[in-house]
Amino acid sequence: QTGLDFLKYRADFPILDRIVADEKPLAFLDNAASSQRPQAVIDVMSDCYQRYYANVHRGIHTLSEESTDRYEQARRGVASFINAAESHEVIFTAGTTAAINTVARSWGDANVKAGDTILLTIAEHHANIVPWHQLAERTGCKIEFLPLDENYTISDEVVADHLQRLRPKMFAFTAASNTLGVEFPVQRWTSMAHEYGCRVLVDAAQAAPHQTLDVQTLDVDFLAFSGHKTCGPTGIGVLYGKSELLDAMPPFLSGGGMINEVTTSGFTCAALPDKFEAGTPPIVEAIGLHAATEYLTSVGLDAIHAYEKELGSYADRGLRQIDGVRIIGPEPDLKAGIVSFVIKGVHAHDMSQTLDAYGIAVRAGHHCTMPLHKSLGLSASTRASFYFYNTFEEADRLIAAVAEIRKRFAPSGRKRRPRNI
Ligand code: PMP
Repeated sequence: QTGLDFLKYRADFPILDRIVADEKPLAFLDNAASSQRPQAVIDVMSDCYQRYYANVHRGIHTLSEESTDRYEQARRGVASFINAAESHEVIFTAGTTAAINTVARSWGDANVKAGDTILLTIAEHHANIVPWHQLAERTGCKIEFLPLDENYTISDEVVADHLQRLRPKMFAFTAASNTLGVEFPVQRWTSMAHEYGCRVLVDAAQAAPHQTLDVQTLDVDFLAFSGHKTCGPTGIGVLYGKSELLDAMPPFLSGGGMINEVTTSGFTCAALPDKFEAGTPPIVEAIGLHAATEYLTSVGLDAIHAYEKELGSYADRGLRQIDGVRIIGPEPDLKAGIVSFVIKGVHAHDMSQTLDAYGIAVRAGHHCTMPLHKSLGLSASTRASFYFYNTFEEADRLIAAVAEIRKRFAPSGRKRRPRNI
């Protein structure tokens, strides 16, 4: 079993040794919300604070130069992680949310007008919906959503039909759904959109941590991901954009660091990437994210993806056996290591709280995908999300605990009145 090879990586994550909830070993299955980080990342960040931290791009003194070097080295490292053609195509942001907001504001305001269409899928995280709603409020453009089929996925035919009928200006979709686990075919959909002159933004928050991404092969126009789900720190994320697009876009946030010259009557912008990095950037976080990408590369993204699929499928199949369980997502083969479910008679919050008493950390609620939940007739679900440091034994614990809880809460399958959440 591939899992055996992965056991050794657990030692890199001190937090995984935690004992929680009355002497239970922690089973951390909430990785889609945020992953844990290895000691190597923690060490690199504390080394920066202890030895060479200073603000970047400003001071002409040793520490500032060292920090600047490491910050720019981080940009080159992250560029190579996603195979960007040029390092200035990598903009450090506060996270996926900030990256998508940057595109919706900067590219959107400059390129979208009343009557234009932005195409999304119904499976999007709020971070890839609300910025477009705001763009619609500002410009009068329309937002259209691709629906899911009965297999919780979307066929190429449906995508082609929407592209052809709606002629959207932008197709913004997630590479992997944080609720369904389903993975969408980024390269294929991007090339289909480009045939209609439509730009593509890919939300890679749930893909960058788990699979190899090559932005040149995928040919996406924009791509966003977060450090904290990718074994890196919070407070940092990446906006990748093709340089000709970023070059033509106006800055989003403004202030120090993003200018060439400021006078009492105006300003001129700095070149990429500084144009999009106003203010003091997340310096130590960028250095930490770089260490995280190196760590993941050394483990191997393809191997991580294969292992998580195996582990996710295993958990999925086990949970499906439990009476009353409905899995919210496609057949195991079509998705990665995310398993969301509802159980007749057990509210997701009760499930999550009770699993905590077993030492198992999962997420309950709408997972910032309210339109998706609504389209499925649900208000909440329970989500177990796996990473390469999780084990088959943890999946077994989850399955056994869910079966026990199901019996305890709904012995006769009787439906309890749902709590308002
Ligand atoms: N998109 C997806 C698919 C996500 O899962 C998340 C985080 N749950 C986000 C966007 C937002 O990421 P962040 O909160 O790091 O900005």
